[in-house]
Amino acid sequence: MYLKHFIAQNYRNLQQFEVDFDPNVNIFIGQNAQGKTNLLEAIYFLALTRSHRTSNDKELIAFGKDYANVSGHIYKSQIDLSLRVLITTKGKKVWVNRVEQAKLSKYVGQLNAILFSPEDLDLIKGAPNLRRRFMDQEFGQISAEYLYFAGKYKQVLQQKNNYLKQLAKGEAHDTMFLEVLSDQLAGVAAEVIVRRFQFLNYLDQYARDAYAHISTSAEKLEVIYRPSVKEISVKDSVEEVYHKVLNNFQNNQKLEILKGTTLSGPHRDDIDFELDGKNAHLYGSQGQQRTIALSIKLAEIQLVHQLTDEYPLLLLDDVMSELDHNRQSALLNYIHGKTQTFITTTDLEGISWEIIKKPKIYRIK
Ligand code: ATP
Ligand code: MG
Repeated sequence: MYLKHFIAQNYRNLQQFEVDFDPNVNIFIGQNAQGKTNLLEAIYFLALTRSHRTSNDKELIAFGKDYANVSGHIYKSQIDLSLRVLITTKGKKVWVNRVEQAKLSKYVGQLNAILFSPEDLDLIKGAPNLRRRFMDQEFGQISAEYLYFAGKYKQVLQQKNNYLKQLAKGEAHDTMFLEVLSDQLAGVAAEVIVRRFQFLNYLDQYARDAYAHISTSAEKLEVIYRPSVKEISVKDSVEEVYHKVLNNFQNNQKLEILKGTTLSGPHRDDIDFELDGKNAHLYGSQGQQRTIALSIKLAEIQLVHQLTDEYPLLLLDDVMSELDHNRQSALLNYIHGKTQTFITTTDLEGISWEIIKKPKIYRIK
């Protein structure tokens, strides 16, 4: 799929922006604070109706205006599709082929986009909650079932935690009800956990391949899911995972009541990124960590392709300046011809653009 035509109005500093994009590579050059990231964010917003930088949509509306609009024509599977999102201070509305969609879920998924920005380094460097958020967001984007179970898990977890707090304070005494909640939570947890294993297993294979290409070294990347219930293994069925989680809840019941919170489950899980068996979170260099984060994004492209038969757009914000020459060339080589790519940079010099046959270059001012 590719984005042919794009319009942004009152979107941050893009007052009235209209452009035809190249189906292959689009490069945006400009000094700092010109609107390069805003442009990538606007394209990402058109795809997912949310920003990668903020959860407050109002920030996206240009100062002094009361609405922002992004729209575009995309081409996929031999058909043209027009998409539009309107953001107002009251909320947002979406259209597909000029027909307003009552539900965002009917809109999201028409256009897929993967964005990589310097903050994605936090996926490797940051705290475990960022890796859990990554799983929930990215797997939710490609699987409606995952989205459902992850949402349901949060809801039942909240219920159980509320009840644990009441027990901890002595406001409630009935452990039978706690057992009902634990049972329900273990059931939903199992659905989340087996899907995480499945998607991370795909990501592991694709990311390993991407890492081998970009790092231009023999180092081997491994992406490993670490459930907080240690007994769970990748081979377990949903039923087996359910029993193991439930067992864990039962064994820890006294401690959970004492602490007033659920001590294990998908909300405590983590992902390990290992290079030749060494944890990259602890031992990786900045460049290695960046290359891993980038490899994960490239792996997601393959995953989306595997599941939908379409390549998503790839948005690369400020990535080139952060990679050495070999890695830049290897990256361009790896993506070239596969997916429509949007790259921002402050400087064209020093980058081996010759790998890309005819990029379309825009100066952003
Ligand atoms: P850099 O090279 O530093 O990353 P950039 O070209 O990516 O720069 P952006 O982040 O896209 O820069 O744009 C930043 C500009 O957008 C800033 O000048 C900022 O004040 C402006 N801006 C951000 N939000 C809004 C808004 N809601 N309304 C108007 N302008 C905004
Ligand atoms: Mg920027």
